Amino acid sequence: MRYSGLRVIKEALTGHKGWKPHWRDPEPKKHYDIVIIGGGGHGLATAYYLAKKYGEKNIAVIEKGWIGGGNVGRNTTIIRSNYLLEGNGPFYELSLKLWEGLEQDFNYNAMVSQRGILNLVHSDAQRDAARRRGNAMILNGSDAELLDQDGVRALYPFLNFDNQRFPIKGGLLHRRGGTVRHDAVAWGYARGADSRGVDIIQNCEVTGFKIEDGKCLGIETSRGFIGATKVGCAVAGSSGRLMAKANMRLPIESHVLQAFVSEGLKPVMPGVITYGAGHFYCSQSDKGGLVFGGDLDGYNSYAQRGSLPVVEDVIESGISLIPALGRVRMLRGWGGVMDMSMDGSPFIDKTHIEGLYFNGGWCYGGFKATPASGLCFAHLLSTDTPHEVAKAYRLDRFMSGHMIDEKGQGAQPNLH
Ligand SMILES: Cc1cc2nc3c(=O)[nH]c(=O)nc-3n(C[C@H](O)[C@H](O)[C@H](O)COP(=O)(O)OP(=O)(O)OC[C@H]3O[C@@H](n4cnc5c(N)ncnc54)[C@H](O)[C@@H]3O)c2cc1C
Repeated sequence: MRYSGLRVIKEALTGHKGWKPHWRDPEPKKHYDIVIIGGGGHGLATAYYLAKKYGEKNIAVIEKGWIGGGNVGRNTTIIRSNYLLEGNGPFYELSLKLWEGLEQDFNYNAMVSQRGILNLVHSDAQRDAARRRGNAMILNGSDAELLDQDGVRALYPFLNFDNQRFPIKGGLLHRRGGTVRHDAVAWGYARGADSRGVDIIQNCEVTGFKIEDGKCLGIETSRGFIGATKVGCAVAGSSGRLMAKANMRLPIESHVLQAFVSEGLKPVMPGVITYGAGHFYCSQSDKGGLVFGGDLDGYNSYAQRGSLPVVEDVIESGISLIPALGRVRMLRGWGGVMDMSMDGSPFIDKTHIEGLYFNGGWCYGGFKATPASGLCFAHLLSTDTPHEVAKAYRLDRFMSGHMIDEKGQGAQPNLH
């Protein structure tokens, strides 16, 4: 069923009896050409592009819970193309371009809102770094504007500009960045994939791989064995646990990241802002809640909930930047499990096992990557060659010394 204004009118006049479920609930087949493990944003986008762009048939997405229950439905919804390094810039720019046409492409309202992202700077050295990043962004085809304090004040007059310790000296504005309704992305890709024949199998946990003579022949699941010619893994925070079942140890640690939302307020925050003197970022949802987050919890965990010290730390940062936040009530907070890699950058690669492919290491920034990750993983699965913009995302880059460390943090995933 295609969605359109005319369809809404027709359904309104006929008692809304014609709407159909977004996707089917099929029984798993005995064998698929391609099986994707993980029904998050990346897994569903991969299946969608495999079917739509690469003309693959006989595909399944296997999800242990329900569509949208993982990080794709838990993140702070920020999308941007403001990366500095060569391996990342073109990839994230492709992703942002795909976001720009996504709703027309998959015929679903994902509420893509390019409301702009402003990274605040608080020192001369930070301004230099922002200028360098802005130049790299422009060279990669993205957009960037360096604002002085008056420029920031015109957009966000309520910030604490003259905080003696961390005065706001300006900011790097990326106008094409913004937010997207996160779970609608999962639903849109799921619907688009299902309508092209992809089987989306929920409540089906992958418990192992069948590997013989260095070749992956399929997966063991809570609903029985499923044979597959190729298996692609895209399970985000569960990457380490899943790949251990194929006897692989990844350069990835799992960490918790929390997010928070306030009570609904009248429109106050026009775009997304990030604090340069602490870890705090904030936007306002269309329902009015301020959506914000900060640092990782800093210890390894598979629990989808966080601890109180980080709540305090995030709120402290928020209030030092926006004193008026002290009057706002927090509605709720939640956590998601991040697949933090050792250089803060992702992987889209074949493994040493024939027929087994891996997509992961998205850290706390994989939501914005969803369209390009799906497209590039589909490209790899279908053609057995890496996509041009994802060539750097190799599993062996730590052996060859080609790390992509945007933050200069070294092998400390909890600090990225
Ligand atoms: C609080 C928070 C805020 C964030 N904010 C942002 C942001 O603002 N911008 C941004 O770009 N990124 C952000 N991220 C990161 C982003 O959400 C993730 O990097 C991205 O969603 C991960 O990819 P995914 O959507 O495929 O993951 P998921 O949605 O987690 O999908 C993985 C799926 O695999 C399934 N799975 C796991 N194990 C198995 C198994 N054995 N068998 C079958 N299925 C399995 C899981 O159930 C899950 O549904 C944030 C993350 C969190 C937690």
